[in-house]
Amino acid sequence: MDPFESFIQDFGALLESNPSEQVILDRGAGLLGALVQDDRWLPSSFAVADVERYRQYLLHLDPRKRFSVVSFVWGPGQQTPVHDHTVWGLIGMLRGAEMEQHYVRLPDGSLLPDGEPQRLETGQVDKVSPRIGDLHRVSNAFADRTSISIHVYEGDIGAVERSTYGADGTPQHFVSGYSNVENVN
Ligand code: FE
Repeated sequence: MDPFESFIQDFGALLESNPSEQVILDRGAGLLGALVQDDRWLPSSFAVADVERYRQYLLHLDPRKRFSVVSFVWGPGQQTPVHDHTVWGLIGMLRGAEMEQHYVRLPDGSLLPDGEPQRLETGQVDKVSPRIGDLHRVSNAFADRTSISIHVYEGDIGAVERSTYGADGTPQHFVSGYSNVENVN
């Protein structure tokens, strides 16, 4: 079976028993880690970078909307604003590498970097959720080539209301949508 198809089956099976978030993130990281050991399964149409900004291609939406899988394609030097997710998420590095800086938001609303920037190398998996740390800025670790990561999120991430944060910590609501799906809202 196609590696991506078996990943989708296995991830659905993992969620079948209504596990805790920690079990989803731990076992899901194992499944995603195995998927990103080999990048040949990703169709080239989901690996195309854009010169303006990073792209988010929907690869799979669970029919019951329990989870969604997205291919994040980073052009050279591209980065996200500081943002949250509000749901659990897994990030598996398929090609290239990413830099990630976590942030904490102080009671007065301002943002503080939380620890040193972390580098995610090809084959590695990272986790996010409101429980374990949900605020970060992510960038392509390379200034001269494309990087690609595969993300798995709770629910239909392209439709989730969440926030980006300005330098002073002011939240701005956004719904990401997907680069390859017409926004129906
Ligand atoms: Fe993120």
